[in-house]
Amino acid sequence: MQSLDALARDAAALARGEVVLSHAESEVARQMQICNACRYCEGFCAVFPAMTRRLEFGAADIHYLANLCHNCGACLHACQYAPPHEFAVAVPQAMAQVRADTYAQYAWPPSFGALYRRNGLTVALALSAALAVFLVLAILGNTNQGSLWHAPLAGNFYAVFPHNTLVAMFGSVFGLAILALGIGVARFWRDVQPAQEVPATGAATEAAQAALTLKYLDGGHGQGCHDEDDRHTLARRRWHHFTFYGFMLCFASTSVATLYHYVLGWQAPYPVTSLPVILGTLGGIGLIVGPIGLLRLNLRRPALHGDTAQRPMDRAFITLLLLVSVTGLALLAGRGTGAMALLLALHLGTVMALFLTLPYGKFAHGIYRVAALLKFAIEKRQPNRLALGAD
Ligand code: SF4
Ligand code: SF4
Repeated sequence: MQSLDALARDAAALARGEVVLSHAESEVARQMQICNACRYCEGFCAVFPAMTRRLEFGAADIHYLANLCHNCGACLHACQYAPPHEFAVAVPQAMAQVRADTYAQYAWPPSFGALYRRNGLTVALALSAALAVFLVLAILGNTNQGSLWHAPLAGNFYAVFPHNTLVAMFGSVFGLAILALGIGVARFWRDVQPAQEVPATGAATEAAQAALTLKYLDGGHGQGCHDEDDRHTLARRRWHHFTFYGFMLCFASTSVATLYHYVLGWQAPYPVTSLPVILGTLGGIGLIVGPIGLLRLNLRRPALHGDTAQRPMDRAFITLLLLVSVTGLALLAGRGTGAMALLLALHLGTVMALFLTLPYGKFAHGIYRVAALLKFAIEKRQPNRLALGAD
């Protein structure tokens, strides 16, 4: 809550046409001023080298730095000014609070930004609605109308849901999700983009490498993050990798199956030794191992490592990924039985809930982080005006 003095200062600044920082943004700016004088954590991650290029921190700088932070906790555990010190420097927490605000602020359509703040409820409602729709459609489409149980259909999914119906439903929702995320991150980029253009090829490769290897989750020394105490561990990096590559393998499985269907004219179900099934099975296993590990870490993380208000969003996304993979593997195991329609409806319902909530939940952090890493890689290639004594 702002004091009357602070409100009066903000009103005066607004009247002068200046940008007023939110409370969370002001807190990052305050802590970055302290860090900029201290610089003890300079080698830990990309945030500190980016910080040293600035003497003042406007809203765009703060949004950029917040999305560059990976919440590894290294700077908190190293900091002599962390609470209970009166300076109360808790960089991971301050960054996390701004990060959530940036997702909401850049969201498209803008009014949907509020969904980030009630993401646990949003995911629960999306999941309930999607499951209900697919269960009802499965009952209506079943030849034994009124029942989800049926004679085995030899794994023929399209006997329950017509192929074109699935393509229309999932294609349109996924397309809208990508559009919303794309517009959101483009608006973020417009605000934070580097002032001078530099050739982007090397920078794009460096940013992609940093994202794909989760470079900065190594704590700057290869030993990893602080998950719950002063110990370094690589657990967070590994569970993220299981989750990310599990997701990508599932995506690859769907893409290959689409090529089989449209290019080669091969209809599902595919044998267990086929490429889509192998990719999907490996992806499903990754999406069980990774999210269970991340959930375990999330339940143990100290409050200063992040923003406790975002825990429902973190846990809802992790749980949804787990449900997608568990129902997918259950469908693979039970596709030749009379329970196939039920298993298929449960799997499609969870996948639909994931697609519906993709642009308004934790998934966004990956997209904004990559944009911030790209800016960092571009900025690195530009002369540092402060080091050259220009300011
Ligand atoms: S987090 Fe603490 S130790 Fe690290 S640079 Fe900032 S003030 Fe210094
Ligand atoms: S929490 Fe980790 S990634 Fe974030 S600023 Fe600190 S050291 Fe960097």
